[in-house]
Amino acid sequence: MELRKIDLRNFRNYEEISLTFDPGVNLIVGQNAQGKTNLIEAVAYLGSGRSFRAQKQAELIRFGADFADIEGEIFSQERNQTLRWVLFGGGRPRQLWRNGAKKKTAADISGVMSTVLFCPEDLMVLKSGASARRRLGDSALCQLRPNYDAALAEYNRILEQKSRILKDHFDNPAVLEILPEYNARLCQVGALLISYRARFYDSLGLEAAKFHSQFSGGKEEFRLQYRTVSTVSDPFVSVMQLTEDLKAHLESHYRAELESGLCLTGPHKDDFEVSLSGIDLKAYGSQGQTRTAAISLKLAQRELYRREFGEEPVLLLDDVLSELDPARQDFVLNHIKTGQVFITCCEPGKFTELGKTIHIENGMIL
Ligand code: ATP
Ligand code: MG
Repeated sequence: MELRKIDLRNFRNYEEISLTFDPGVNLIVGQNAQGKTNLIEAVAYLGSGRSFRAQKQAELIRFGADFADIEGEIFSQERNQTLRWVLFGGGRPRQLWRNGAKKKTAADISGVMSTVLFCPEDLMVLKSGASARRRLGDSALCQLRPNYDAALAEYNRILEQKSRILKDHFDNPAVLEILPEYNARLCQVGALLISYRARFYDSLGLEAAKFHSQFSGGKEEFRLQYRTVSTVSDPFVSVMQLTEDLKAHLESHYRAELESGLCLTGPHKDDFEVSLSGIDLKAYGSQGQTRTAAISLKLAQRELYRREFGEEPVLLLDDVLSELDPARQDFVLNHIKTGQVFITCCEPGKFTELGKTIHIENGMIL
């Protein structure tokens, strides 16, 4: 997948620009608040119809303008394609075109241009609580496996209904009659999630380890360990066995769940751990190590996508270079040799041998 050209009108701080890109690395350089992340956001939005930082669509429209227009030329699925989004304020629905034909939803353009994004918030993910890590893993796995996406949505639906039962039973004990049914279903679908996750985290960890090793000049050995419910001794066993394992855990927490009114056990508490040469990253990782590991995970995510669909998503690396020593910066700038990459940085004088540099100032190209 390759973004060849983008045209923006009234998108964030861009009034009107037209940019062509290198098939390799595109290094976007500029001082703070000039529009580097805005450009990355436009690229991600073009392919997915989603912004990784806007709460409302209206934020994407340039102050004072009444629409934003994002148009791109992409080479993917062995041909030239175009995508175009027009966004409006005031609750008016956005419009979308693929190859000139009007489309209804983002699902109609899936596979035209996928992106994998690294942003500084991803560093927090490796350092903070399990839920952010789960979200990161889930979103990568959903991109890869639509069936997982569907199972996850179903699990969350059942979980929500079960939560309501656990809350309501204090006032109305009769609701407990339907609890076993929900628990049984939760174990079945939960087992499926674990089965998918075990395989996914295994491949993701192996790929990330390869990148991390190159990245750190062979200094650190990256390992990723999937953590799930304690009664699951081997997440690779059959879904039927996993279902039994989950039931056992649920039964041992039955009282506790009733007393607390909370869903205490299940794969909605899953997590993964990263260690570098045997040392837990979450507790002991340095800033550069955490950054290296996070980027390696993103590179691995992209590689798994390529294996599955035969094309590499466009890699968007926002603000990656800070905190990295010169050797690690060199890896990012000059050694990600496959697919298209966008890298933003605010230090002048950075250079890539694999593509071109674009200077941005106040929403304009220098
Ligand atoms: P940094 O190096 O600090 O990350 P950056 O170049 O990535 O900076 P961006 O986040 O791309 O900066 O751009 C931020 C600028 O865009 C801010 O000055 C902000 O006010 C402006 N901006 C954001 N949304 C809009 C909008 N809807 N209309 C006009 N300007 C906007
Ligand atoms: Mg930025």
